Amino acid sequence: MTGSLVVVGTGPGKAELMTPATTTALALATDLVGYGPYLDRVPVTRDQCRHASDNRVELDRARHALTLAAQGRQVVVVSGGDPGVFAMASAVFEAVETGDPAWRALDIRVEPGVTAMLAAAAEVGGPLGGDFCAISLSDNLKAWTTIERRLRAAAEADFVIALYNPASRARPDQLGTAFDLLRAIKSAETPVLFVRAAGTAETKVAMTTLAAADPAHADMRTLVLVGASTTRLVAREGRSPWVYTPRSERGVRP
Ligand code: SAH
Repeated sequence: MTGSLVVVGTGPGKAELMTPATTTALALATDLVGYGPYLDRVPVTRDQCRHASDNRVELDRARHALTLAAQGRQVVVVSGGDPGVFAMASAVFEAVETGDPAWRALDIRVEPGVTAMLAAAAEVGGPLGGDFCAISLSDNLKAWTTIERRLRAAAEADFVIALYNPASRARPDQLGTAFDLLRAIKSAETPVLFVRAAGTAETKVAMTTLAAADPAHADMRTLVLVGASTTRLVAREGRSPWVYTPRSERGVRP
């Protein structure tokens, strides 16, 4: 049988936020390849081989998946969220580009998923209604100076900024450094949202301002949203406000 490789994302966590196309791909797989905690979200099927790995060896994992597909297996590579956003799709294509030329003839497909930024935005209202950007604060694969340059450019362009990978035990100070850099450019009153475990049953939202933003609120399951100058709060009695960014840069219409 001809092998295949599908790269999928399980969404932010809740089963309903996994797409039906992803569910189908998972059900048809003979082999699942991915980081252990993401594989744990996938219902167990009889006769399916699971190849769990640690999170730091993306290229090796991609090569392993391609080797299995070349042997005729129906392989699914599993990421969280969307597989193309700071995740496995790039590693798979990098492995194809640099690996066995025969891999280019394989049947490889990517299924989109609900990325953390979209799940987090939905928890708080409509913060991504204007222009926005996503920046990963992880400097495992790029220099911190690159991250600082992009943060500065995003602040100067007045994008709403979604920060992925805002914190880790190995890099406790970087989110604080990022906030300092943004404070030098953006208003102190800019809304900042820490959305933890968005799109799951354990979601927690902490809302503050750039002036008061405390990096201790973020962990590896948190998406940080930093507003644009146009981002607004709609107050509610006894509940935290909705947050949205108007579509119009002229602000709120009368
Ligand atoms: N491919 C994933 C992102 C991987 S990077 C996606 O599309 O969502 C990992 C980072 O994503 C985490 O450090 C965190 O910042 C964010 N993240 C992933 N799931 C999340 C969730 N349910 N809630 C909030 N942030 C999440």
